[in-house]
Amino acid sequence: MRQGNDQQPVMSDRRQAQETDQQQIDKLIELVRVSHTVVAFTGAGISTESGIPDYRGPGGVWERNEPPTLSDFQTNPAKRRAYWEDRRNSYPAMLLREPNVGHRALAALAIAGRLSAVITQNIDGLHQAAGLVDEDVVELHGTTHRVRCLDCGTTWPGAEIQTLLTEGISEPRCPRCGGPLRSATVLFGESLPQEALRRAVALARESDLFLVIGSSLIVNPAARLPVLAKESGARLTLINRTPTPLDALADLHISGEAGPTLAALAAGVLGTGWERRIS
Ligand code: NAD
Ligand code: ZN
Repeated sequence: MRQGNDQQPVMSDRRQAQETDQQQIDKLIELVRVSHTVVAFTGAGISTESGIPDYRGPGGVWERNEPPTLSDFQTNPAKRRAYWEDRRNSYPAMLLREPNVGHRALAALAIAGRLSAVITQNIDGLHQAAGLVDEDVVELHGTTHRVRCLDCGTTWPGAEIQTLLTEGISEPRCPRCGGPLRSATVLFGESLPQEALRRAVALARESDLFLVIGSSLIVNPAARLPVLAKESGARLTLINRTPTPLDALADLHISGEAGPTLAALAAGVLGTGWERRIS
């Protein structure tokens, strides 16, 4: 007599995992379809597929050199010089970085009116390079594409300051007042730009779907905004390679790569020709 299961094809673990992935992506697509105010919240993880290392992953920035603090810029000439030296060498490579399919998918969703805004902890400008307008991107940690004067507060385009660095100036000064310059990013020990934080909090409260992508969610307010969104009634989804402290709070947690997941989301919501919307 035959055993009941003998004729059943055995589903490989890999195929089972793929089906689970697809089911999760289908859930994500459905959540975006039924939501009115979708807000994305991105961290360094969305840009690793563009070749920019994250902070806490293997090979991340912290394994190579510690980023400067505000007090380094104000009081430590050696660290200041080291910063400008590093920037002279590394900024040209940053300018060559291109948005990946994940950035493009978010831009396409925004252009189609399916995504209200992106709050980002990133300083790389790749959301805008993918086609998002400045007004739809809240840069919580500033941008590496500008430099600010410590004395008069004027900001200058990174490319302009790069010209001074390549001309051999070791510590560029403000073209307007001659004051010392610093990167227009939020440095360690510094508070966040108030207007960006206000907008991020308002968006978290207004959202009915809050999509966290590629953030370790360890540092505030990164860790606080998804909780605020959830407490305000939003559904919370996480797309991340590695576990985060908020996984248990999420309505949907996709453990995987940001780019392919967001591409599948854009295809599911906008159709397979979604990339044409941003070209
Ligand atoms: P983080 O480095 O603390 O965490 C990144 C997270 O993304 C990790 O949990 C990692 O597992 C995950 N990840 C990496 N690649 C991924 C991928 N392809 N798909 C899915 N998940 C992926 O980054 P954070 O939470 O943004 O905090 C770091 C701080 O460093 C930020 O405040 C940011 O200002 C700054 N930073 C910015 C950049 C950038 O602008 N691209 C790069 C490095 C650091
Ligand atoms: Zn100045």
